[in-house]
Amino acid sequence: MKKPLSFHEIMPDDVWKWKYMESQIEQVLSLFNYKEIRLSVLQDYNILYKGITALLDTEEAHETTQQLLNLQQPDDNIGLLSLRPEGTINVLNHVAHRLKSDKINRIFYHGPMFRKDSKQKPLEFYQLGVELLGSDSILSESEIISLGMKICEQLGLKDAWLEINSFGCESCRPIFYKAMRQFLDEHKDEYCNDCYKSLYNNPLHSTNCLEFACMHSTKQGPKIHDYLCPKCKTNFDKVKKIQANLTNNYKVNHHLYKNFSYYNETVFNFMIQTNGSPEVIGGGGRYDFLSNRVTGKQIPAVGFYFNLDLIYSILTSRELFHTQATPFRVYICSQSEVMEIMLLQIVQELHQHNISTIISSDIADTEVETKTARVNDCQVMIILRSENIREGKALLKNLVKEKQTYVALGDLLPEIDIIKKSLV
Ligand SMILES: [Zn+2]
Ligand SMILES: [Zn+2]
Repeated sequence: MKKPLSFHEIMPDDVWKWKYMESQIEQVLSLFNYKEIRLSVLQDYNILYKGITALLDTEEAHETTQQLLNLQQPDDNIGLLSLRPEGTINVLNHVAHRLKSDKINRIFYHGPMFRKDSKQKPLEFYQLGVELLGSDSILSESEIISLGMKICEQLGLKDAWLEINSFGCESCRPIFYKAMRQFLDEHKDEYCNDCYKSLYNNPLHSTNCLEFACMHSTKQGPKIHDYLCPKCKTNFDKVKKIQANLTNNYKVNHHLYKNFSYYNETVFNFMIQTNGSPEVIGGGGRYDFLSNRVTGKQIPAVGFYFNLDLIYSILTSRELFHTQATPFRVYICSQSEVMEIMLLQIVQELHQHNISTIISSDIADTEVETKTARVNDCQVMIILRSENIREGKALLKNLVKEKQTYVALGDLLPEIDIIKKSLV
């Protein structure tokens, strides 16, 4: 049997956790005045292709475009469509062409992204993207980094730390590239074929290779930090100083590399210790030249992503989703079909007073109904029976205090209100 694809499906009992996680994140974003943008899941392949090939060299761009999940061309008049693989290219286009590109734009988005994995299987994953566009100041990247750290704290991940590095600029990076390529040539036999090729191609490529020799050799190799020009070095020192003063827990990682080479100067990762090993939960950096190549407009920018699936599983394993108090809920059932309208009228009245209800859709005996009400965590139960209705009454059960009384229909709401208040 073929292994099923791993679709991203969230069951009803888990949706509140996702909403909780998103609301905690959005609280921090709103403190920093970031605004949400809702991007289309359907994307124009040509625009993505242009973005990806803009600053990646041919081989990397080819690899990345191979990961795009494209749809069958529906019609000759419609170009090739892809499922959204990330948000930055799209955001840059909107800022350049639809928003005020001469102003600072603080934007975030979250939701499903799609790519093909290394085995060419479709992959759906949830990501948060945060971008600050329109400024190349140290303050803007410090703001973005602080925002990411604050999100970790808000989610209860107080042990998160930051790893930073600098990718230098167009004048100092080529000198590092040259030194790294020379090192690679001298140590060629210490690398597996793939790593040698990808590092030679882009010396700042993150290889994720698990072979000890490869990891070991790269760490022995030249550090970009030693090749930074005075401007890049001063800027990097400022970023470090600001983070130290903000008492954000940070480390300089000279070998923090990224798969996308469009970053310049500051790059960073947000880290968490899981099962004894450090794990990247998100990261980003400055990309001042990407917009010019993608949109034709010069828009300096800095941004980051968070891997929401990973954060969700960490919050679950650390039991950081605190179950909320059971909301007040009324179970209502009738013991004859002729009372359906009356039942729905009572429900309507309860809803007008913001009281949540569960309606029994069957006619069952009181014992069965009481059991169902308890299973559904209802504190109160209303039972409509023909013999009581004839006297203008209904049976009201307080399931918490195990008490029941016959209440005049007109008094149902005030009586329920008294029970509700007594339970707070
Ligand atoms: Zn430089
Ligand atoms: Zn390798």
